[in-house]
Amino acid sequence: MEKEKLKIGIYELTGCAGDALLIVDCEEELMNIFKAADIESFLMAKSDNRNGELDVALVEGSVSTEKEKEELLDIRRRSKVVVAIGNCACVGGIQAAFLDKKDWEKNFKKVYGTIAFTHTKPAQSKPIDAYIRVDHYLPGCPIGKEQFLSTFARMVGGNPPELYRFPVCVECKWHENDCLLNKDIPCLGPLTLAGCGSVCPDHNIPCFGCWGPTEEANLTSEYHLLLDKGFDLEMIKKRMANYSGTRIAEFFAQFRKEKR
Ligand code: SF4
Ligand code: SF4
Repeated sequence: MEKEKLKIGIYELTGCAGDALLIVDCEEELMNIFKAADIESFLMAKSDNRNGELDVALVEGSVSTEKEKEELLDIRRRSKVVVAIGNCACVGGIQAAFLDKKDWEKNFKKVYGTIAFTHTKPAQSKPIDAYIRVDHYLPGCPIGKEQFLSTFARMVGGNPPELYRFPVCVECKWHENDCLLNKDIPCLGPLTLAGCGSVCPDHNIPCFGCWGPTEEANLTSEYHLLLDKGFDLEMIKKRMANYSGTRIAEFFAQFRKEKR
């Protein structure tokens, strides 16, 4: 008897849709992806989308409206496993950098004034685990093809994804690069999740942290290291904030408290 296929849904909240695009861009493997599982919902790739029970939901983007929050809660209710895909879903993305509630309200007013929103109410951007339980995190901005295909194949086989937990520096060392920090170039490799193959330092370009922070990222140490090297405080904050989402806001808030 043929094994029942996994029911998978791929969803996009607020972001650039780069992760969904990356999946569509798996041109050679795309037919096999659709053969290996029942892709129940994937707006970018098909029109007959269904909202039924799912084995796995892959969710891209941050939650930036009340409607998206409702959609996300509904996805969680219908899915056995939820995987956050990409920086926005995992940590909030660029739209969540530095924004504490008051700053967000101030900036929002500056951009939109007092417009009445009828379709949905905007909300401060947050990663999806601010609202639901997330089973796995597939990092990247966008996610990497290799990690996506391996994660997909493992899940179809009934196994959890195997993802790197170590920083970009490890891949950088595998490739025997000279460390850019030793050349006084502000590289965020020590803070950033591996998986991209250290593509930037391999080309003598510092890592900007686009795969998001590792679980054990030593923000304090990198912050002081860059300060000691004479880099401007605002530049360090902005660079570290770009892809760290809500996490960096928490870090600097704590730092401000310590300074008082
Ligand atoms: S160049 Fe960057 S990624 Fe490579 S070892 Fe140095 S800090 Fe780490
Ligand atoms: S910025 Fe860092 S994490 Fe992003 S692709 Fe470059 S080396 Fe990789």
